[in-house]
Amino acid sequence: MKRILLMILFSLLLCAAVFAPVHSQSQPTSSLTIIHANLIDGISAAPVRDATLVIRDGRIETVSTSKTEIPAGTPLLDLKGRWLLPGFVDAHAHLADLPAARRALASGATTVRCLGVNHFVDIGFRELNHAGVPDIPDVVAAGYHVRPRPAEEFFLDIPKMKDLMGGVNGPESVRRLVRAMIDRGADVIKIMATERAGLPDTDPRKRVFSDEEIIAAVDEARKSNVYVAAHAHGDEGAAAAVRAGVRSIEHGTYLSDQTLTMMKEKGTYLVPTIATVIDLIDPGGDYDDPVLSVRGRAMLPRVRETTAHALKMGIKIVAGTDTGYGPSSRRRIPHEIIELVNIGMTPMDAIKAATSVAATCIGVDKRTGSIKTGLEADLIAIERDPTIDISAIQDVIVVINNGKIAVNRLNW
Ligand SMILES: [Zn+2]
Repeated sequence: MKRILLMILFSLLLCAAVFAPVHSQSQPTSSLTIIHANLIDGISAAPVRDATLVIRDGRIETVSTSKTEIPAGTPLLDLKGRWLLPGFVDAHAHLADLPAARRALASGATTVRCLGVNHFVDIGFRELNHAGVPDIPDVVAAGYHVRPRPAEEFFLDIPKMKDLMGGVNGPESVRRLVRAMIDRGADVIKIMATERAGLPDTDPRKRVFSDEEIIAAVDEARKSNVYVAAHAHGDEGAAAAVRAGVRSIEHGTYLSDQTLTMMKEKGTYLVPTIATVIDLIDPGGDYDDPVLSVRGRAMLPRVRETTAHALKMGIKIVAGTDTGYGPSSRRRIPHEIIELVNIGMTPMDAIKAATSVAATCIGVDKRTGSIKTGLEADLIAIERDPTIDISAIQDVIVVINNGKIAVNRLNW
């Protein structure tokens, strides 16, 4: 805790130093020029060597080669040949409190899709980020899971829906729950199409919700231009969700060829969260249970096989950790990038799966997820070339969030 506080204090001091006012006009501008960066923009097939990037007022103003003239008077960040990438987009996490949100950002995730937390804290993170708080990532928020038994905390937030404490049954009840999330400001609806994997007494292969109920969720969300992400391990529940028109299948462990074919046709994203299945097996971390460890060992080869197959079929694959970024969490978004390389993706494609492709999947590609003029300056720097050795992706030494340096470990 003390370390985190020191880190935040250090970052704030650094920001203050870097963003000392350049002009004394009524409209304060903040700028930063990054030089000598080897640039991976999250879209192109090849890196750009020795790039210069000008950031103004939180956005990327120009991206060019080092021959460009550097605007006079702007603060400089010399990366000395280190690698600059878009900030990671973790398409599946559960941030429960501010320290978790800060940990996500400190590990390089400048955008997180939060797929189920209590008390709508995800909406709070999003608002803090949009209000300019530098150490909180941008968040795409789902509020609570839409499931047959909503988390009890939901009824503390919205007591007038107490009649659903007995269960969410039938399309009309599902619609009411979806509307409750959207009324509180959710950007996405997270629906459970199968039971969870992370509890010893659940069966992740078992379907929940009928066709009619999932269709009702997708339809109700669509009325407000909100999409649905479906948690599904088992094939029957996943197929129902894909048929109903969800944007993404989360996990997808036991997907059949038939369901994968349907996903390919419909453009449904797959967010396999392989890193969290490893976490089921490993001692410690978010899970530490002998039943889950047996289950995880059975699931791991399946989810890897399914993801490799999906990749060959041309299904859009997105990186997500499914972690809480808690004090004992052991997974971070770079782990999932490495897992995607392990199942056959090229390092460049795995990086895209955690940047531009993830941003498109979760609906923020117009503002972040790649390095190009006009987008938010959400950036990270790493020490070495990740296209040669993907393990380099773990060594995040700089995090820039909306143009502000949130983390600086250049002097490690
Ligand atoms: Zn999850």
